[in-house]
Amino acid sequence: MLALTHVSAGYGPITALDDVTFTAAQGQITAVLGANGAGKTTLLRTISGLHRPRAGTIEFDGTRIDRVSAERMPGLGLSQVPEGRGVITELTVEENLRLGGLGRGGRVAPSDLTRIYDLFGVLGDRSAAMASTLSGGERQMLVIGRALMARPTMLLLDEPSLGLAPRIVTQIFSLLRDLVRDEGLSVLLVEQNARSALSVADRGVVLNLGRVVADAPANELAADDQLRHAYLGF
Ligand code: ATP
Repeated sequence: MLALTHVSAGYGPITALDDVTFTAAQGQITAVLGANGAGKTTLLRTISGLHRPRAGTIEFDGTRIDRVSAERMPGLGLSQVPEGRGVITELTVEENLRLGGLGRGGRVAPSDLTRIYDLFGVLGDRSAAMASTLSGGERQMLVIGRALMARPTMLLLDEPSLGLAPRIVTQIFSLLRDLVRDEGLSVLLVEQNARSALSVADRGVVLNLGRVVADAPANELAADDQLRHAYLGF
């Protein structure tokens, strides 16, 4: 469903992605793992239209998207979830959610909000609260909920576990798993926390210095001691 073929990208003389080829299948969680500087952020920015690749192609549902602007991505079914600090603190929880639905033509159906409150009960309980009063975990749920308001077919997540307690990470990852199982959503999960990501993912792609060094089912990567020690830090 999302296919990168020989993608290279960089900044001036720096090569951040070097001949990257992999696919993220429909209805699965694909984890992209790697240490600091491996190229994970550049990869997400390149997929979501914020950074132009130097070479290669990116296809989503059979359509070339490597020349599509970031604003048009949600309309194609691709929604990026920024990390939790991406909530708008001056707005309420519900106002933040409504913003996520605007890209689809300006109207937000009540059923869209109900769906998010069913998924994340705490957001329903706190719908009128200012987003500034939410905890880190609740903010992460809010940015995921806001992205879901656009009714994407694929979510791109940027380090959702960053700065969160292990218990909250488990809760958020199991919610992603439920969404994939119940709604056929596809997820590209970019994470430095490889252990947690592999416990929820179907497949993992490991980046090192901008190159793909492994691409395999998540359970195989988690069982590969050499790979874990060399690239995954656990
Ligand atoms: P992190 O987890 O630290 O964000 P990452 O895996 O996301 O790391 P990138 O941020 O994509 O990696 O960085 C890949 C390479 O590109 C690194 O060598 C980094 O120094 C370089 N880089 C990233 N952004 C820029 C920039 N704006 N200008 C120059 N070099 C950059």
